[in-house]
Amino acid sequence: MKKVAIVGAGIVGATAAYYLYKETDIEVTVFDHGHGQATKAAAGIISPWFSKRRNKAWYKMARLGADFYVDLLADLEKSGQKVDFYQRSGVFLLKKDESKLEELYQLALQRRDESPLIGKLAILDQESASKLFSGLKGFERLLYASGGARVDGQLLVSRLLDASQVKVVKKEVSLTPLLSGYQIDNQMFDQVILSTGAWLEHILEPLGYEVDVRPQKGQLRDYQVDLDMASYPVVMPEGEWDLIPFPGGKLSLGATHENDMGFDLTVNKNLLQQMAEVASPFYPSLKDAVLSGERVGIRAYTSDFSPFFGQVPNLSGVYTASGLGSSGLTTGPIIGYHLAQMLQGRKGVLDPADYPTERYIQKKQ
Ligand SMILES: Cc1cc2nc3c(=O)[nH]c(=O)nc-3n(C[C@H](O)[C@H](O)[C@H](O)COP(=O)(O)OP(=O)(O)OC[C@H]3O[C@@H](n4cnc5c(N)ncnc54)[C@H](O)[C@@H]3O)c2cc1C
Repeated sequence: MKKVAIVGAGIVGATAAYYLYKETDIEVTVFDHGHGQATKAAAGIISPWFSKRRNKAWYKMARLGADFYVDLLADLEKSGQKVDFYQRSGVFLLKKDESKLEELYQLALQRRDESPLIGKLAILDQESASKLFSGLKGFERLLYASGGARVDGQLLVSRLLDASQVKVVKKEVSLTPLLSGYQIDNQMFDQVILSTGAWLEHILEPLGYEVDVRPQKGQLRDYQVDLDMASYPVVMPEGEWDLIPFPGGKLSLGATHENDMGFDLTVNKNLLQQMAEVASPFYPSLKDAVLSGERVGIRAYTSDFSPFFGQVPNLSGVYTASGLGSSGLTTGPIIGYHLAQMLQGRKGVLDPADYPTERYIQKKQ
């Protein structure tokens, strides 16, 4: 029986654990300290098709990542899990300059040929939009795509770990390479996945590596409203804030993008209040919503904003992924799946050469 350790149980590590558990000859142990995990703080928007980023490798990963949810849902259902963490209730895109909506509509129309999941596309006036999201204001027209989805990252991770039936050891660990394998927490492993998000340098630096991944703090507010918003679309205006309705009256507002804050996990109520004040004219009922919580997570960015995955240079049997930035709930599952395949010498639809680890992880001179 091959022994595999996964360090980090965010969306990448939990998906890898799930797909490795399906193999009969592998025993998986997961380690996670959980502080500042991006996945459980995430807003949860899955809607990559409107991005104007020129990075083709990123877009390919993001659109296939959105598609991959269809397979993941089917697999988890077969494993006896509820798929209540994901709903495709559509997305609204707002632009300060509404003449740009037509351009965006044409872009999405082209992209729909390879990504039918985008669904129905339409430019809606305020009256038509309010039939889908009652009480939304502050615009004349917006772009609607029926295939946009929202994911509860924390719930998805718990479904994946439940289905995997893996042991999760809740502690911070380090990695020691030995002649016969790798030691973690006084146990020996044949192969390792480092799905440590923004903390990748912390685990590789003691082994003599420099890692091009920086942390970015993100904060978000959760509200409880007296309304089931299960069928309401996600609202994505230009700027920092998005409004993400969930079933059961949960409504999230987020998120901040704070650079140069390191791994700071304190809630900055002033910043969150400012965000609520900017959002309120678009959804005046927000003022009556009951604040139910505030979340803080740390995103991981590379200097060119590209994610990467594959083997750690010069560490045979150790694989990693990081740099998922602000779209890691979209790309995380497909990356976790690919890591699970790579460990077994298999390939997936993404070519790891397009997301090379050696560009971001280098041995110190
Ligand atoms: C506020 C916010 C909003 C976001 N909104 C969206 C969104 O709407 N759509 C979208 O697609 N993406 C979104 N993202 C991005 C997405 O959440 C992340 O890119 C993704 O969750 C990263 O997943 P991960 O598994 O790589 O890392 P993480 O989820 O950060 O998981 C890494 C785990 O590794 C653990 N760990 C690290 N080092 C060690 C160690 N030495 N020992 C043990 N455990 C360790 C950490 O504690 C953590 O639990 C958002 C992120 C934030 C913060």
